Amino acid sequence: MKILVIGSGGREHALVWKLAQSPHATQMWCAPGNAGIAQERLSRNGSAVECVSIGAEDLPALLAFAQEKKVDFTVVGPDNPLALGVVDLFQKNGLKIWGVNAKAAQFESSKVFSQKFMEKYGIPTAAAGTFEDVVAAKRFCATLGGKCVVKADGLALGKGVLICTNQAEAEKAVDEIMVSKAFGAAGARVVIQDFLEGIEVSMHALCDGTTAKIFPTSQDHKRALDHDEGLNTGGMGTYSPTPFLSDAQLAETARKVLEPFMQGCVTEGIDYRGLLYPGVMLTKSGPKILEFNARFGDPETQVYLTRLENDLVEILEASASGKLARHELKWKPEASVCVVMASGGYPGSYPKGKAITGLDAANKLPGTKVFHAGTALKDGQIVTNGGRVLGVTALGKGLRAAQVAAYAAVETIQFDGAHFRRDIAAKGL
Ligand code: AMP
Repeated sequence: MKILVIGSGGREHALVWKLAQSPHATQMWCAPGNAGIAQERLSRNGSAVECVSIGAEDLPALLAFAQEKKVDFTVVGPDNPLALGVVDLFQKNGLKIWGVNAKAAQFESSKVFSQKFMEKYGIPTAAAGTFEDVVAAKRFCATLGGKCVVKADGLALGKGVLICTNQAEAEKAVDEIMVSKAFGAAGARVVIQDFLEGIEVSMHALCDGTTAKIFPTSQDHKRALDHDEGLNTGGMGTYSPTPFLSDAQLAETARKVLEPFMQGCVTEGIDYRGLLYPGVMLTKSGPKILEFNARFGDPETQVYLTRLENDLVEILEASASGKLARHELKWKPEASVCVVMASGGYPGSYPKGKAITGLDAANKLPGTKVFHAGTALKDGQIVTNGGRVLGVTALGKGLRAAQVAAYAAVETIQFDGAHFRRDIAAKGL
């Protein structure tokens, strides 16, 4: 089977790495990919994964490439091409593709859409309101005593969420989003949620339109510095499983969230085939959904796919073709930890082109895999090419062992200005 993966980050490297292990894969491409993806080889025949310089949002070029190479199956990593309708376009042209269609992608591209859906179908979430009017928005913040979270409706590069502790801050947040338009058109409408206290975890479920298969839990670390200090980032590290939910509690959460979600989608005529990734707050009064994402998390994918036992080609095909009920997801008992190594200055401005050394030695350590995110090949040398550079991932018998292994690998890798958190997975220990 000829497979094309769309995207270029750590998530896509993990997807390519796992897909390439499938005996079904005979030839693979990644658009546009990165330096680590270009080093992957197919288990079946040893052929290299080829990176092609087509941007993940260049839909006409992606379609033309898939048609020319007679690609059998395309897998989409990032949210933007999904929201732009890459799945709809490929399907219209008779090509098999995995990911949510544009209608289903609204769960991520519109927080107002998601909030209204959760309320309509009884999915546990924060007390909230959705507003187009500044005065009404501020009045609602006051009913929450100003302790609230003001969210721009649309995609805002993960930055359109403002946490407020009093009414003055809340009013400032509403003005910033709706009046000053700090996030552009994304802020024409807002969702205002009650501020929830608790432990935040990531949930993932693979869906096929009617069936949803839940993954074990994982936990991301969004802030740039240790002890959750510093600026928000795309994610500085993850681990799985987390100790915060027992298997019974996870099954109960799945029942409370995934059953009404899938049922609501059927009722609304949304054919949800792809990955559903809800952000969950475990509060004293039970789990509450903060938001939905409509794709694999990054860096959650890195810890999930190192633990997944199934053939990824088979389960993604089953998700795309409505046959997931036949499959049972199987996970290695080992824990997995992913530590992100970022460029100095990230999430602010940072230099590029710094030589990276020690990658081969790190990859040779037992149970260790270094996933590339922002890397490129320059004159035969792998160099930094983005904010998040590497996702150093290791399995271990238990969380402590996985954490020790991941950090041992991090210590072997060097590049000028490298920055990483030293407390990934500490909350789970
Ligand atoms: P979102 O993009 O909606 O997940 O929001 C980004 C981050 O803001 C989340 O990962 C949480 O850490 C925080 N957050 C969002 N909504 C709430 C809420 N209702 N209560 C507390 N924290 C929240």
